[in-house]
Amino acid sequence: MKRDTHLVVLLLLVIGCSLASLTVWKVLASRERALEEVDVHGLNLTQALVTYSEGIVRQSSALLLGLVERLETEGSGPVQIQRISSLIDRQEPLMPQLSGITIYDSQGRWLMSSNRPIPAGANSSDRAYFIHHRDDPSPETFIGPPIQSRSNQEWVITVSRRFNDARGEFAGVVAVTLGIENFLRLFGKIDVGQEGAIGLSYTDGTLLVRYPFREQDMGRNFSKSPIYAKYLVDRSVGTASFTSSLDGVERLYAFRKSDRLPLITTVALGKREALAAWRTEALLSAVVVTGLLALTGLIGWFLILDIRRRTQVEAELMGTQQQLLSSNRQLELLAMKDALTGLANRRCFDVTLDLEARRAQRDGTSLALLMIDIDYFKLFNDSHGHVAGDDCLQRVGNVVETCVRRPSDLVARYGGEEMGVIMPNTDSEGAQIVAQLILDRLQQANISHESSPLGRVSVSIGIATAAGSRLTPVQGLIEAADEALYSAKALGRNRSVKLPGLI
Ligand code: GH3
Ligand code: MG
Ligand code: MG
Repeated sequence: MKRDTHLVVLLLLVIGCSLASLTVWKVLASRERALEEVDVHGLNLTQALVTYSEGIVRQSSALLLGLVERLETEGSGPVQIQRISSLIDRQEPLMPQLSGITIYDSQGRWLMSSNRPIPAGANSSDRAYFIHHRDDPSPETFIGPPIQSRSNQEWVITVSRRFNDARGEFAGVVAVTLGIENFLRLFGKIDVGQEGAIGLSYTDGTLLVRYPFREQDMGRNFSKSPIYAKYLVDRSVGTASFTSSLDGVERLYAFRKSDRLPLITTVALGKREALAAWRTEALLSAVVVTGLLALTGLIGWFLILDIRRRTQVEAELMGTQQQLLSSNRQLELLAMKDALTGLANRRCFDVTLDLEARRAQRDGTSLALLMIDIDYFKLFNDSHGHVAGDDCLQRVGNVVETCVRRPSDLVARYGGEEMGVIMPNTDSEGAQIVAQLILDRLQQANISHESSPLGRVSVSIGIATAAGSRLTPVQGLIEAADEALYSAKALGRNRSVKLPGLI
């Protein structure tokens, strides 16, 4: 029973552990997959945004190159400026992402602006891009930090080039301003969730545009943030996960450095948001698996209860069976025993005699039978009473039993105060020896019987032995022993007789 219960418990444990570990494995694998998908998605977005940003800057740069060329060959006098101004007026509608184009002289004064009218006394000699071009003779395009336009207060990014005079000296700057509104409009169309963010920065960490827009971030330098300090040191593209220093939200970042321009685009998604679908799926799996485990456990518990109940019933049945068997044995014994003397009863005598007669016939051995009758027993009863008579009968039975030694011998109460002794494989001589032993032992027992001429209880014994075909029917053996007993009585009792000629 214990083994069955242990097997069920083991089976349940195996099922439970397999199910639980499979679920954990599946949930963790799907989390990995979800994170990978976010990374791929982010990297694709950064590619698109880098291409877009590069396109705008390169267009602006090309426009500036043309203007610089003109200013350097034709000069920056009022007539030339007027011509350039009308040229710009024609070109501007072709580039809607431009907020404006401004030309400054070598002192930072505004010579021309597409956002007319020019504010009185406007001077940009303090702007970073102006200072850069004034101090750096390089004719290359410069992308400046975001600034607030002096003409319309909009946040803009500047893309600028310097132009020289005929002697090759610094003559001024041409700058294109790109309103960050245009960028924000595009970035806003991309779904990055509630906690997501899209950024465009300069390679030195200066933030150019961030969506969602936050005034306080404009122009901030993020060179200390992990993306710049750790990941972009030796890579130009990659993904990372860390907590933002701006708002404390953990995000999954994808970043890409432009191949041609000093620009970096960053797409970030809130990790919690990005894993929301996965979390719902994991929760659902956990609920289903927990339900299944509970159900399996319940079925297992019922199974164990059933095994216990069945085992208990089996044990009870076994007990009942044992009780029945022992009761049967007792009944059998009782059915074969004489209640008064404890000797085998008449039924047992008949069965045994029949059995042994057949066995003797089969084996060719001789079977001996003693018929014993107590002498003057009626008188014993008369003088001592029936109770004492019963007691006497028991004592005589005990004496007779002590004289019979072989396990195959049987002493039985034949009826009244008569007893029969069946002795298989015993010849006439052996039977006479046993009969004599009974007479002797009874003499030694010396049970007082005043009404008997001997003054004690004695018995008469008839002996009969037979072998082979003379054993059938067995009744013949009983009659011969009876006749010999009768002779023993007639000859004076307290003796054994084996009549010659009889079997
Ligand atoms: P005999 O020497 O010729 O055998 O004389 P007897 O008195 O023994 O005569 P018999 O064998 O015919 O006597 C049988 C008597 O045995 C009858 C009865 O009083 C007594 N007897 C038979 N069965 C029982 C018994 O179970 N208990 C008692 N107390 N007496 C019994
Ligand atoms: Mg008798
Ligand atoms: Mg008698």
